[in-house]
Amino acid sequence: MKLCVVGTGYVGLVTAAGFADAGHDVIGADSDVSKVSALSSGKVPIFEPELEELVRRGRESDRLRFTTDVGEGARGSDAVFICVGTPAGSDGRPDLSAVREVARAAACAAPAECVIVVKSTVPVGTCDRLAEELSCEVGRTVEVASNPEFLKEGAAVEDFLRPDRVVIGVRSRRAAELLRELYEPFVRTGAPIIETDPPSAEMAKYASNGMLACRISFMNEIARLCDSLGADVESVRRVVGSDRRIGGSFLFPGPGFGGSCFPKDIRALASMGASAGVPVPLMEAVGETNSIQRRYLADLLRRHLGPSLAGKAVAVWGLAFKPRTDDCRDSPALDLVRELVASGARVSAFDPAAMATAARSLGDDASQVRFGRDRYDAARGADALVLVTEWPEFRRPDPRALARAMRGRLVIDGRNVLDARSLAREGFTVRGIGRPVVTPEGGA
Ligand code: NAD
Repeated sequence: MKLCVVGTGYVGLVTAAGFADAGHDVIGADSDVSKVSALSSGKVPIFEPELEELVRRGRESDRLRFTTDVGEGARGSDAVFICVGTPAGSDGRPDLSAVREVARAAACAAPAECVIVVKSTVPVGTCDRLAEELSCEVGRTVEVASNPEFLKEGAAVEDFLRPDRVVIGVRSRRAAELLRELYEPFVRTGAPIIETDPPSAEMAKYASNGMLACRISFMNEIARLCDSLGADVESVRRVVGSDRRIGGSFLFPGPGFGGSCFPKDIRALASMGASAGVPVPLMEAVGETNSIQRRYLADLLRRHLGPSLAGKAVAVWGLAFKPRTDDCRDSPALDLVRELVASGARVSAFDPAAMATAARSLGDDASQVRFGRDRYDAARGADALVLVTEWPEFRRPDPRALARAMRGRLVIDGRNVLDARSLAREGFTVRGIGRPVVTPEGGA
C-alpha cells in the first residue's frame, strides 16, 4: 500500500519506519524543516532503541521517504496516518490545531477512497467530528478512523512491531479491512485487533493511560505512608502485586510520573468530564497525588541536608522522564533540577542520552548546571546524589568509585533500584522511596 504518516516524532517516525519495514511505500511528512532534512540525509533526530536501524532499512529499500509537504505525501495514498502532537492547552484540553490542519490538507490532496487515520491521542468524538467537517468541506464522504497508539518510549520499535493489541475505531467495512490488512503482519503471535467505533477507540486510549497513572499514583501514596509509618514499600508492593487480581506491573513508587502523555492525558480526561458535566474526582486526585510526589525528592533532600539547600552540592543521575529515551518533556528530574537551582544549590547532572534535550528544556537554568562526562564525574564533589531515572548503568555503581568522587555520603534512590547495603558498607546513608533508611551502622 501507499501510506503517508504525518508527524515524524516518537510515534510517527516509528509508525512510518515500521510500515515501510513491512513492505509498504511510506512518505513521512513533518512541518519541521530541520527534522525532515536530517531524516532525508539518514540522521534520526531522536534517541529510541532500534529506530536508527529500522529507518536505515526503509531508506535503503527506497520504501521510506520524507517531505515537508503533507499534500505531496497524501496524494495517491491509501491511508494517511496523523501522528502530530496534541499538547494540553492552559485549560487542560488538548490542542487539536495541528490535527485539524493536517486532516484538512490530507483530505484535500488524497484520493476519494483514502482513509484518514488518527493515531494522535484525541478527545472522544474528535474523529467523527472531523469526518463530518471534512466531508462538508471537500464535498464527498471522508472516512476518518481512530487507531490510538500504545507504544512506550524506550521500547517503541518493539511495541510497534509486536503490540499487545491493536485498536481500530471505524465506521465502515472498507476502513476496517484496510487497517486489518495493515496490522495483521504485526499480530501473528495472537495479539488481538480490537475493532470498535471511533469514540470507544479514543476513550480506550485515555482509559489505558488513566489506569496506568492511577496505579503509579496509588503506589506513590502508599510509599509516602510507608515512609512515615515505618513500613517497607518493597515488601508491600510484592504482596500487592502477587495477587492475580491486581498483577505486578506499574506498581513501582518513584519521583512521580512525567513525559508527554500521562500528565496531559489525565488533564484531558478531567476536562472531558467537566465539559460533559460528569464529575471525575478520581482523575483529579491522580494528578494531585502526582504533583505532591514530584516535590518529594526535594523534600527528602531537605530532611537530610537541612531546610536550606543553598550552597549544597547535589548530583542528579538521570534527566529523561524514563530510561532508554532522550525525551525530557515534563520530566520529574527537571522539576528537581529547577527546584535545586532556585534554592541556590550547586547542581551537577548526568544522563546517558538526554543531556542535550535536558539543556534545551531547562533554558536559562541550564547555565547553572554542570553536566558531567559520566555518572562519577557528575557525582564529583557532591554532598548528595539523587538517582531520578533508572537507567540500567545507574543501578550498580562501584561504591568505592562513588565514595572517591563525592564529598558527602547521602544517596537518595528515587527508584528503589540501588543495592543500599553495599553502598552503606562504603559509608553511605541510602534513602529510597517508602523504604527504611539504610545507614553505615546498618539500621534505620
Ligand atoms: P512528537 O512531538 O514527538 O511528534 C510530533 C511531530 O509532529 C513533530 O515532529 C512535529 O514537528 C510534527 N508536527 C506538528 N504539527 C505539524 C503539522 N501541522 N504538520 C506536520 N507535522 C507537524 O509527538 P509524539 O510523542 O510522537 O506524540 C504524537 C501523538 O501521539 C500525541 O497525540 C501523543 O499523545 C500520542 N502518543 C504518544 C506516545 C509517546 O510515547 N510519545 C505514545 C502514544 C501516543
